[in-house]
Amino acid sequence: MFDPISALKDFIRHPSVSADPAFREGMHGARDFIAGLLGRIGFAVEIVPTPLHPVILAERTGPAEWPHVIIYGHYDVQPADPLNLWTTPAFLPEVRGDRLYGRGAADNKGPLLTHVAAVARLLERRPDLPLRITFMIEGEEEIGSPSFPGFLAAHAERLRKADFVLLSDTGSPREDQIVITCGLRGLVLFDLEVTGARTDLHSGLHGGVLRNPIQALAELCASLHDADGRVNVPGFYDDVLDVHAWEREQLARFGQSAEEYRAFLGIPAFYTAKGFTPFEATRFLPTLEFNGIGGGYQGEGTKTVIPSKAFAKISCRLVANQTPEKIRALLYETIAQRMPKDVTFRLVDQHSGQPYVVVPPDRSNTPAGQSPVLASAFRAADAAITEVFGRAPLYLREGGSVPIIADIKRVLGLDSVMMGLFLPEDNLHAPDESFNLNVMRKGMAASERILEGVAVGGRRS
Ligand SMILES: [Zn+2]
Repeated sequence: MFDPISALKDFIRHPSVSADPAFREGMHGARDFIAGLLGRIGFAVEIVPTPLHPVILAERTGPAEWPHVIIYGHYDVQPADPLNLWTTPAFLPEVRGDRLYGRGAADNKGPLLTHVAAVARLLERRPDLPLRITFMIEGEEEIGSPSFPGFLAAHAERLRKADFVLLSDTGSPREDQIVITCGLRGLVLFDLEVTGARTDLHSGLHGGVLRNPIQALAELCASLHDADGRVNVPGFYDDVLDVHAWEREQLARFGQSAEEYRAFLGIPAFYTAKGFTPFEATRFLPTLEFNGIGGGYQGEGTKTVIPSKAFAKISCRLVANQTPEKIRALLYETIAQRMPKDVTFRLVDQHSGQPYVVVPPDRSNTPAGQSPVLASAFRAADAAITEVFGRAPLYLREGGSVPIIADIKRVLGLDSVMMGLFLPEDNLHAPDESFNLNVMRKGMAASERILEGVAVGGRRS
């Protein structure tokens, strides 16, 4: 059995920044490191090329009646900039107190190694464990996984025979309150550009004869919400999944106060749709946000111009069972209807992602026919986390988006058990990223029990 903490240090020393071609060698090193480690604990390792960064597939095979888990992770990390804000260099890992500092410590090298170490220890203890395990580790998560859907499609035949996916690339609020994420929001992004005259105009010579495109854009944008904070686009909420009582009950146990949250945000008041607390709104409702708006003169002093163009960058977070395709079409139709006819406009598609939801077993709305192996994984996770972390996990949908989880569901038909192992103070994507080593140790114990529980109790029907 390898030492997980020194392995994590070695892993971090490979600067695997997927966004920057200058880090090719670091990507290579991180990939070889984790592939080598999986090989040493007995896995058959394959490095699968993609148009950009390869995916590692490592398998422990067995008879078809053994349950089959895919463990997902990613070996790439965010850029370390701004470098001067790190206490110690980002790619020279250091333990201070009960934390290990370094880029990727929490996202995702630490949580990934937690599962690798758990598997190593479990197989050492039970070499005959009746469980098939596939590690699926990509190198493009931090740049939006562009190659991943294609990879899944190319290997769907074999991967879709698995029973479920286990991963830790989500968060929990505290060390003693682990969250199992049961839903993620989807995304639709686009740019809207409004054009008035063919060129910028003198407001004295031409003012009063045409609609300013900034005005047209502002009127249009203002029409997209109503006074209660709901998105004012016909049909927008039609497919939104009902919120179940148990979901509200789980969220209430999260123990945050709305007043603290308001003060944290620094806002005078919430602008939240009726019937939802702010915490519910970020998880259970879709949104429409203006991420950027511009046009006209932005420099020092004044300029009496009627600009030719104005633009807005707009994004929606979607919830189950909305689809980006339908929402994009509804938005474009509404914008076309409402845009004043004395300007022209252009919509430019940006990326999108599907929302995702999974219902843990024994809940009022657990879908009939849920895979017995998935159900056994949830039950094993509940028991393991309760025992190891000292408190039952919370089952929550999240406001954020991890599009690959929906891709895995769409392409492979597999659900995911997402055990949140990073904490708010881990500084993901920021300077002084770190991973709590107590969480790592407990996470290993929990992962080991989950996998053993699935092996023993998850016989395929
Ligand atoms: Zn991640």
